Order: sequence, then C-alpha cells, then structure tokens
Amino acid sequence: MQLYKDQQIHVFNSLSGQKERFQPIVEGHVGMYVCGPTVYSNVHLGNVRTFMSFDMIFRYLKHLGFKVRYVRNITDAGHLENDADEGEDKITKKARLEKIEPMEVVQRYTVDFHNVLDIFNFLPPSIEPTATGHIIEQIELVKSIMDNGFAYEVNGSVYFDVHKFNETEHYGKLSKRNLEDLVHNTRALDGQSDKKNPQDFALWKRAEAQHIMRWPSPWGDGFPGWHLECTAMSTKYLGDKFDIHGGGMDLKFPHHECEIAQNEAAKGCSPVNYWMHANMLQLNGQRMSKTTGNTVNPHELLSGDNKFFSKAYSPSVIRFFNAQSSYRSVLDLTDNGLQASEKGFHRLMDAINLLEELKGDSSSTFNVQEWKQKCYDAMNDDFNTPILIAHLFEAAKLINQIKDNKASLTSEDLGLLKQTLHDFSFDVLGLMNITEMNTGADKLSGAIELLIELRQQARLNKDFAMSDKIRDELAAVGIQLKDGKDGTTFTIN
Ligand code: AMP
Ligand code: ZN
Repeated sequence: MQLYKDQQIHVFNSLSGQKERFQPIVEGHVGMYVCGPTVYSNVHLGNVRTFMSFDMIFRYLKHLGFKVRYVRNITDAGHLENDADEGEDKITKKARLEKIEPMEVVQRYTVDFHNVLDIFNFLPPSIEPTATGHIIEQIELVKSIMDNGFAYEVNGSVYFDVHKFNETEHYGKLSKRNLEDLVHNTRALDGQSDKKNPQDFALWKRAEAQHIMRWPSPWGDGFPGWHLECTAMSTKYLGDKFDIHGGGMDLKFPHHECEIAQNEAAKGCSPVNYWMHANMLQLNGQRMSKTTGNTVNPHELLSGDNKFFSKAYSPSVIRFFNAQSSYRSVLDLTDNGLQASEKGFHRLMDAINLLEELKGDSSSTFNVQEWKQKCYDAMNDDFNTPILIAHLFEAAKLINQIKDNKASLTSEDLGLLKQTLHDFSFDVLGLMNITEMNTGADKLSGAIELLIELRQQARLNKDFAMSDKIRDELAAVGIQLKDGKDGTTFTIN
C-alpha cells in the first residue's frame, strides 16, 4: 500500500536547522545511510539508542509503503583513537592488547552487535557493507579528490586540503562552524605532522612497519582514513546524491562534515538531502561513552546484573523507554524512568490483549478514524514517537472504558483500532508483545504476565474459581499478585 501518497512527512534537517517537507529523489523510493559501529568493543546502550531511532525511522518509511534501501556500515578499519588523525587504529590496538588478529576483534564484536540487534527486534538493513570490503572504492575516491586538486600526498599519506576546499565551498556548513574559528581554536602543528594545516584530514594513511591492517595503494602500503569509507559505501549503493544520512549527534563534526567535503571534492555535489542526527543517551546525567567508560552494556541491563539498576528490564521496555522521548532529545537512562516505562508498556500491551476479547456494539462513541490520523500526524512530524505513544495510551484508555461498558465501538471500528494499534506498536515502534518475549530474564515475567492475562479473562467471564486458583497457586510458589488501579502487578519472593 502506498500510504506515503496520503501522509506527508516533515523531517528536521540538521543541514538547514529546520523541519522540511520530505521529498525523496525518486518517488516511492528512499535511500538511507546510517553510520554503523566501530567493532572494537561491545556496543553500549548509547549506540543502541541511535541505531534504534533509525530502525524506527526505517520501519515507519517501510510502513508507509516506501521502497527503502537502508545501508548501515560496519567500521572494521581506519578509525583512529582521536579525531586529529593521530593515535593507533582502534581495532589494531585491541588486537595488540588481546594478542589476537584484528579480524578476530572484528568478528567477535560484529557477532555481539548482531546478537544485540536481534534481541531488540531490529530489522536488518538492506546492505551492511564493511570498510575493509571497499578498499578499492576508497582508493578510487582519493584519486578523484587529488585529480580535482583538493588533496595532496606527503610521505605516503594523502590529506584533504580543507583550506583549498573552503575557497569555493563552506567547510563547516553542517556543524555550523567556519574555518576561521577552527583555525583560531586548533593548536598549531608541532612539526611532526605531514599536514599543511591542522584542519586538513587524512584520506589515506601510510602504514608504519608494525601496522598490521594495510593495503597496497598508488602511495605505498597504507589504510584509509575513517571518513572516507562512509563516502565510498554510501555513494556506491545509493548514488552520488541520496535522501537521508543519519548517525549520532557526535558524528556531525568532523565525520559528517568531512563526508560532505569529500563528496563535493570528488563528485561536485553535496551527497545528502536530509541529514538526521539522533541525540545522546546519558547515564546519570553524563553522556554514555566508551572513551570515559560511563557505559551500560545491553546484556547487563537485560539481566539486571549491573551496579546502576535495581532490576532487569526487557528489550521491549527499553525500546518503549527510548520511544517515549524524541530521537532529537537528550535521554537520561535512570531506574525510575525505566520503571515508569515498564508500567506504561504493560498498560499498552494489556489493552492490546484485552482488545481481542471485546465485542462490537451498534454504535461508536469514539472517532477511530480521526484518532488513527492523529497517530500518523505524530509520526509525520519528524517521527514524534512521544506524541504517538500519548495517542496509543488514549486508545488503551478507551479499551478499558469499553470493557467497563463506559464506551462502545462498532465491530468495524474495533477492527480498525486493533489494526492501527498493531501497526504502530509492533511494526513501527518494533515492540514485542509480552507473550512473545523469549530472552532469559523475561521468560519468568513473560509467563507470569500470561497468567495475569488469563486471570483477567477468567474474571471477565465471571469464572472466579479459575481467577482465584491462578492467584492462590502463584502465591503458593512465592509469586504475589497485587491488583491496583493501573492493573495487576506481581512480586517474586
Ligand atoms: P561508534 O561505534 O563509537 O562509532 O558509535 C556508533 C554510533 O553510536 C554512532 O552513530 C554514535 O554517534 C552513536 N553513539 C555513541 N555514543 C552515543 C550515546 N551516548 N548516545 C547515543 N548515540 C551514541
Ligand atoms: Zn560514517
């Protein structure tokens, strides 16, 4: 279904700093590139948040009927320890410390990344290319940039000439910087560097004798600069100009700024129509980051085995928590926040499950069609998931009112309500219904939630013997049910 013909999305474009009407280059098709992880350690929940935001965007675009080619790369070479093209390659360093092959590092953390994505119910991207699989394309790009006069070679390394580029283009247009300020704020070169100017960045680096990850090139053995891989892979699969490029806010500068410069220098056009940036996840008010060590790994949150949180949380609760704020807002991961999301998530799932039992009436007291469009309007407004969730809760309230005979819907409206709730909760937000969860920490709570639901059904059917039996037998094995105004909760002794 080509829903996109009726639903007009507006996206916040980091390049213009404004919300813009989304119009893909080719009608009905969307090309989207998102910078993937550097696979030198386990992904943390901050990384997961950014990928989850783009998973939600991918899901919504697909839901609207767009044919989306979603490319998310794996950085398995070239990402140095600091942004000034100095320090060791992150993967090589890990390999050296652990005395294993760099490709063993890559394999281990790529497997972990995929495992985490599976647990969180991510849709796989259409293409997942690696930097090491695209060395030839990267060398070709360096050649084009040099041919066009925007790069120079020194001692086997090739650097992008930012000052030359800035004579005709604006280096810094994405991150709202300008070269004069950058010059003012950077340390002068210490005489060790081959660069003409500190603002220049490496397209190709000479490999020193001990550098294991190396490839032959016209400039001698070396490896590509980190920014280059994304230009090579995005344009290879999506064309010299494509629709959406995403990543975390921290990648705006220098990574994405350099991607723009590379593309303009090599191909004469700006690569992307809509630059989208997801905001940072914080832990206790401080940005979650591998560098500072202020991280929680997804497995630790899912198992409850960590020093920050009082209990385990399920993947869907974490997804729900993420969706309760806009992808453009900073989000602070706290125990209270997760507990509130857990309650909200169960409230929504309980309502969706209860909906199965409701019978149609002769008339409707609620305008489902109008409510459905409000859900689309929320998503069309730069993927505003918190507003969407507010509408989903409105539906949950309605379902409970229908159960209590305080509202009614015709069978047709009930069907529409059910379809819309399923579309947005499962297809778009990627939540999993509690009865479908299967991770270790969730098995028990999933089973208890199922029993709570069966007990609710028994009560609805006035089968009080059954509902008491469920409560008493759970109590006998140490599981206490407590009925409250927000539904039934449980504790395990
Ligand atoms: P990296 O593996 O460090 O290149 O990061 C992979 C992705 O995670 C990038 O898009 C980063 O911008 C993003 N990222 C890193 N830290 C955070 C954070 N604390 N919150 C949200 N996204 C993050
Ligand atoms: Zn990238």
